[in-house]
Amino acid sequence: MPVSRDDVLSALQRVHDPELHRDLLSLNRLSHLDIGDDGRVSVGIRLESLNSPVKQRVREDIQQQLGAVAGVTGVEIEFASGLSTTQPAGGSGKKPQGKPEPAAPQEQARASNPLPDIKHIIAVGAGKGGVGKSTIAVNLAVALAREGQKVGLLDGDIYGPSLPTMLGTESIPPKAVGQMIIPYNVHGIKAMSVGSLVEEDQALIWRGPMAHGAFRQLATQTSWGELDTLVIDLPPGTGDVPLTLAQLLPLTGAVVVCTPQKVAQDDARRAVSMFRQLGIDVLGLVENMSYFIGDDGKEYDIFGRGGAQMLAQQMGVPFLGTVPINTALRRNADAGDPTANFTADDQLGAELTGVARALVQQVRAHELDERFTPPTVNVHG
Ligand code: ADP
Repeated sequence: MPVSRDDVLSALQRVHDPELHRDLLSLNRLSHLDIGDDGRVSVGIRLESLNSPVKQRVREDIQQQLGAVAGVTGVEIEFASGLSTTQPAGGSGKKPQGKPEPAAPQEQARASNPLPDIKHIIAVGAGKGGVGKSTIAVNLAVALAREGQKVGLLDGDIYGPSLPTMLGTESIPPKAVGQMIIPYNVHGIKAMSVGSLVEEDQALIWRGPMAHGAFRQLATQTSWGELDTLVIDLPPGTGDVPLTLAQLLPLTGAVVVCTPQKVAQDDARRAVSMFRQLGIDVLGLVENMSYFIGDDGKEYDIFGRGGAQMLAQQMGVPFLGTVPINTALRRNADAGDPTANFTADDQLGAELTGVARALVQQVRAHELDERFTPPTVNVHG
């Protein structure tokens, strides 16, 4: 019986670094994966050092997980020292023989960063539309600004830009100085949307190369100035824009928004995998529309609260928090007044701020990871 590559990758995803509590794939530790016709699986794993105290435990966990995959007849593990930021090997087929691994899109972006005055760039994505991705992006940006950060918000959802409505900038004409667009200064943040630059129905018809160009222009020709964080609202799903983004801008990471029901989790899982394949760290999952609080004060689990949290656990992704279905959140979005979410409703403000604070923690953890990553030295052993 042939061994399924997906089954092997899923099994490896269940093996966690015992110190970092994250799975080997999201930590980009897989250097190669070969599956023989005879069912023998050979995996290469990068560790900080060949003397790493976690080596034995990782070896045992891999043996155990892969041993349980249908059709596997033997497992060979090769450790290498030195952590790498190149593309995870999981999705890229066989180990390239004698050639260096191809640079991940993020490596390209790091080498030619067009926005060096921005400390952290964070993409907000979702597996499908309508889960509240733009709502979370807007409110994360406003919450981070209320926590004292200089924040920008870029509407990268070029096929269905909703930020002009959600920020109340619909009727304000954009300004430019020379080639540069001046972002709107609203709700304590700087914001720009393709919806402010083109007619509403024009935005829907971008084809691949146009979408690429529109996103690039929007990101690099907006006068952001110095920012602590630029939040980018991506289109839903796994299309052209995330790839363009990954090649263009060095990201601190991505946030994936998900509603709790099972069908939404499957889409979110794909979004997480996409970010990982692009070499983008997933900083966390947000469960939106988690539950509903009725007029009677009772909490109703309409979509099966906790589903996204479970998914986060399964995928080894941090969980950033839940946001309930809240009529005021929808009303304030339609009215273009996200500030009201923080000033008029204490509980909602606290929930949104909680998600933003959890994100800040993950950004700090990411900074520490980066600082302590030693240079790559590939010594097989
Ligand atoms: P997406 O960007 O994923 O397509 P949006 O952020 O545009 O989704 O949200 C879709 C609709 O749902 C909007 O009308 C928004 O105001 C509403 N919405 C999103 N999250 C919530 C929530 N937690 N409670 C109430 N309404 C919400």
